[in-house]
Amino acid sequence: MPNRILIVEDENDINDLLARIFTAAGWRVNQAFSGTEAGLLLERETPDLLLLDRMLPGMSGDELLQKLRGEKDGFLPVLILSAKGTLSDKVGLLRLGADDYITKPFEPEEVIARAEAALRRCGKRPEASGGDVLTAGNLQMYPQARKVLVKGQELTLTVHEFDLLFLLAGNPDKVYSRESLYEQIWQGGYYGENNTVNVHVSNLRKKMRAADPETEYIQTVYGIGFKFGAFSS
Ligand code: CA
Repeated sequence: MPNRILIVEDENDINDLLARIFTAAGWRVNQAFSGTEAGLLLERETPDLLLLDRMLPGMSGDELLQKLRGEKDGFLPVLILSAKGTLSDKVGLLRLGADDYITKPFEPEEVIARAEAALRRCGKRPEASGGDVLTAGNLQMYPQARKVLVKGQELTLTVHEFDLLFLLAGNPDKVYSRESLYEQIWQGGYYGENNTVNVHVSNLRKKMRAADPETEYIQTVYGIGFKFGAFSS
């Protein structure tokens, strides 16, 4: 499962910018634009991390934090978003239960690094750190971590199985011949009569079916080869 963050910030531009930063890093993002809205969203779902602006209309970030720490003590890591120069009461906020700070203006890399550090401190492993995620149906691939999830279940793939699936899923409209898959994945070997691609496709299908029996992810194109497609079977 990707990490989930709730971003609470009343300035639309900043909220959207943060949403883009976290989405690009593979997180699932929810946005709230007031403390009250955040409170309602938190009643429905607890994210893995809360990014909370201090200056909000209605219930302020400080008040929301205070309320949360009364209810879910130590459970939900909170990063405070704060304008530069308002950090004089940093100690007070840490005492209220904030895990860390980000000061505006911020660098995307810093935001993600602090978020991941906050998760680590809470014993949650950051996933897909800094990498893109490829999603198709119930399939999620994290190329940097070389990690594959099907219906939220992590698959154990060999290097070649991963490369094969990543190539197919990354170009879902393209039909690949066995020869061309072999050349691209096994690089330079002579294809000849060998059965390597078929065997790997068959193993991949088996592993994916175990996690998601309703979907056929790799289609056989008769007389040509294979293509990706997350179709219900
Ligand atoms: Ca604000």
